[in-house]
Amino acid sequence: MILKGKPVADQIKEDMIEKVQQYKSLGIVPKLAILRVGNRPDDLAYEARVLKNCESMGILGETVVVDENINMVNLKNRLEGLNLDKDVHGILVFRPLPKHLSEEELCESIDPQKDIDCMSPVNTGKVFLGDPTGFSPCTPEAVIEILKFYGYSLMGKNVAIVNRSMVLGKPLSMLFLNENSTVTVCHSKTKNLERLTSNCDIVVTGVGKGKFFTPNYFSSKTTVIDVGINFEDGSLCGDVDYDNTEGRVMAITPVPGGVGTVTSMILLRHILRGIELQKNQI
Ligand code: NAP
Repeated sequence: MILKGKPVADQIKEDMIEKVQQYKSLGIVPKLAILRVGNRPDDLAYEARVLKNCESMGILGETVVVDENINMVNLKNRLEGLNLDKDVHGILVFRPLPKHLSEEELCESIDPQKDIDCMSPVNTGKVFLGDPTGFSPCTPEAVIEILKFYGYSLMGKNVAIVNRSMVLGKPLSMLFLNENSTVTVCHSKTKNLERLTSNCDIVVTGVGKGKFFTPNYFSSKTTVIDVGINFEDGSLCGDVDYDNTEGRVMAITPVPGGVGTVTSMILLRHILRGIELQKNQI
């Protein structure tokens, strides 16, 4: 089975459009604010995609652009302006920041209730405490969303996550634990990785190495969630050698068209979650 991201993203979008209308009927217009430092082409491309998605769902989007030479005090002041703006429900800051700015300091300064990209240590802490009143990072949440959409029961499943970063492996291990899965977090020093992953029900790959995982890493009963995004020979591919693996495992997400597609939609769903948090409904 191919676990495509589009049907999952479409379902999220449909639910969101309905919710946006409900908020509008109450006089609340959901709004995202993007804080961008400078004009990096990657940031501009990402921003255009996010704003287009917002528009298609009736969510307002505004970008605050600051000069790339801005100092930390002024940057934090701009962020504080958005923190205090009652019309803004979610804030997205493009990273990495220029080297002279402290990402850590900025993460600590964002209002945790508007922190749709889970930058704040408050929200990270809540993920690890199992406290559901914050934001999870979007990619780990997308992984769980895909599995649930396709009808997986995660209770008691043996899961291997090949990544231990703070954007993926560590928080995702907590989300799987919340679902009562049994989780093994693997990394570059893990021994006998092939044997370990091929004995798991679900394997999440995030090593950032194109086509690294051959069919030897899996069994015919494995479900593979490929989070990797790599460019090889001018085209996009995942961490899994998809062509040789699809058909030899139980299910697999494609790249492109898998986890990334859902991640973008989760980010926007977090704006609506921001409204609920700010109204103290959660
Ligand atoms: P990262 O910080 O570089 O983490 C890579 C992880 O892979 C590390 O834990 C590393 O182990 C492990 N690793 C590397 N080589 C390995 C090997 N040979 N065997 C076992 N483990 C190995 O990268 P990241 O920021 O987490 O991102 C990982 C990938 O996910 C990238 O391709 C990125 O583009 C992609 N990504 C996708 C999305 C999405 O929405 N689809 C979102 C975010 C990231 P050590 O800790 O021991 O170094």
